[in-house]
Amino acid sequence: MTEQRLQGKIAIVTGGGSGIGQATAIRFAEHGAKVFMLDRTPENAEKTKQTIENAGGEAHVIECDVSKPDNVQKAINQVAEQAGQLDIVFANAGINGTMAPIETMEPEDWDQTMGINMRGTFATVKYAIPHLKDRGGSIIITSSINGNRVFSGIGFSAYASSKAGQTAFTKMAALELARYKIRVNAVCPGAIDTNIDDNTYPSDDLKEVQIPVEFPEGHEHPLKGEPGTPKQVANLVLFLASDESSHVTGTRIYVDGAESLLRG
Ligand code: NAD
Repeated sequence: MTEQRLQGKIAIVTGGGSGIGQATAIRFAEHGAKVFMLDRTPENAEKTKQTIENAGGEAHVIECDVSKPDNVQKAINQVAEQAGQLDIVFANAGINGTMAPIETMEPEDWDQTMGINMRGTFATVKYAIPHLKDRGGSIIITSSINGNRVFSGIGFSAYASSKAGQTAFTKMAALELARYKIRVNAVCPGAIDTNIDDNTYPSDDLKEVQIPVEFPEGHEHPLKGEPGTPKQVANLVLFLASDESSHVTGTRIYVDGAESLLRG
């Protein structure tokens, strides 16, 4: 029998309807956690729930837009009430958002990206604290290599800022919450094969400011030669969620097949 690394745990996954969140929800459930997916697209999260249930696991879906703090508070309180406890929080929901030169980026487009990626993370952590502080727990935040390297791509100023903000927030939260035995870590994926392009909005004038970047032919993704899979990220999140990482907090871990080493 496979070892159940999250047996008896209650886990929240934001953005469980697709990509990295979906793969992680499935992985958590395979290891015995009861999973609550908070997603603004509940139809997709329902499909993840079905997959989990077909494999004998337990999952629930709550419609929630993480950019709206009152939505997040209500959803997390509902989980704690329904499940009676909370142990793991994967703050993962995010978008690439508008990719535009700073000169032409509209403030509301900037706010949309920051609102989902950054304020959504803040709200998810904030409203989980009351339910974690008496028993400890593990919070994992999906940042990106894009927030943590020199070259993040032209047009990515809002996205890269939100992702850098998430890693700074991870460190501050880890320090603040250590007294409650709550661990907080960030995962930083490189390019992963998901549906994130559905929430990527390149502006018409983006091409004008592109800086050509030369890669050796076929070496954009050094380890595999292609983007990573959501499951490869989920395996790292599973480790950080489990007690196997009990002395790991306040850190960011890259899961990018060395992609970040090519572009600083
Ligand atoms: P995805 O689009 O496949 O999945 C994102 C999920 O989040 C969807 O189910 C979507 O409905 C949900 N979501 C989006 N906005 C939301 C909101 N406001 N409230 C609630 N749910 C919301 O994308 P993904 O690639 O799996 O992205 C997950 C995370 O991984 C994001 O934070 C993203 O920035 C990060 N990331 C992705 C990559 C990549 O290459 N795919 C690389 C680095 C980091």
